[in-house]
Amino acid sequence: MSGAEELAAALRGGSRRALARAVTLVESTRPDHREDAERLIEAILPATGGATRIGITGPPGAGKSTFIERFGLDGIARGHRIAVLAVDPGSKRGGGAILGDKTRMTELAKSPAAFIRPSSAGAQTGGVARRTREAILVCEAAGFDTVLVETVGAGQSETSVAEMTDMFLLILPPAAGDELQGLKRGIIELADLILVNKADGGLRDHATRSAAEYANAVHLIRPAHAEWRVAVRPVSALTGDGIDAVWEEVARFRGALEASGAWGRHRAAQAQAGLWAEIGDGLLERFRAAPGVGARLATVEREVAAGKRSPAAARDLLAAFLDKKS
Ligand code: GDP
Repeated sequence: MSGAEELAAALRGGSRRALARAVTLVESTRPDHREDAERLIEAILPATGGATRIGITGPPGAGKSTFIERFGLDGIARGHRIAVLAVDPGSKRGGGAILGDKTRMTELAKSPAAFIRPSSAGAQTGGVARRTREAILVCEAAGFDTVLVETVGAGQSETSVAEMTDMFLLILPPAAGDELQGLKRGIIELADLILVNKADGGLRDHATRSAAEYANAVHLIRPAHAEWRVAVRPVSALTGDGIDAVWEEVARFRGALEASGAWGRHRAAQAQAGLWAEIGDGLLERFRAAPGVGARLATVEREVAAGKRSPAAARDLLAAFLDKKS
């Protein structure tokens, strides 16, 4: 057996060490690691695809990590096994990681039925998507039936997470109606379920009112899935109020999409989009590194920015690239 096959077997056998090693392997950018990672993914592929993949986003402070801890613990009590991954392409937190703070999700982190993987800082955006797609597969092969992928509100990352998950969850703090205007419409359009968190204590009424206002706004948006009406629910990650209902919504969502066939179609389209993203990333990587291109790229970019040349200058660079290849 090759190293990748042994790792695949250990992973499927439930070894935590193998799980951590496998995720580290798919995260590595070293070319020899990349080859091993690809062999590993091929080996585990038949054991993947079973989990419900849930993307989670929301502005900082909305309560995402508090929610994941509570939702995760409730899920474990219901018999689920929960993996938590993070996507943080910006890494604007001074080199830290979203889930890197050890004070976050302490209870969940202790559970043998949970696996929490903080994102490492400083990765390139293209690589982040691939690594996360592969980390999801690794978690599935290790027997996790629910994979949560957390992202911070950093532009592209929401779209990228929505493209690799089945259901997208937006967590918002209680807010007034006019604050909704400030929320990026694109993010609301991605959401399959919206939670207004902190519906407890003095904030309870505020959160309930916010949820009703958001619901009015959301119903003006064309739904992403014909078989699913986006709900807006007040919850409290702190007290656990409404969290059970979120598990039920997740099951209802999956059931509705499976019944119509949309679940499988969505997965197939995502896998194809992943293929094209890999092709695009791979080509770009080689393009930038090609001898006739790398040195000229900065100059051409500058000239195009200054209006001295048109973007069609790409043709010269492509010709130089293809020359070197042939
Ligand atoms: P994140 O940045 O979105 O991950 O937010 P955190 O989970 O770190 O929470 C930010 C702050 O909101 C913390 O002080 C939490 O204790 C608080 N918080 C989170 N959820 C709730 C909740 O349901 N109710 C209340 N009252 N506070 C909450």
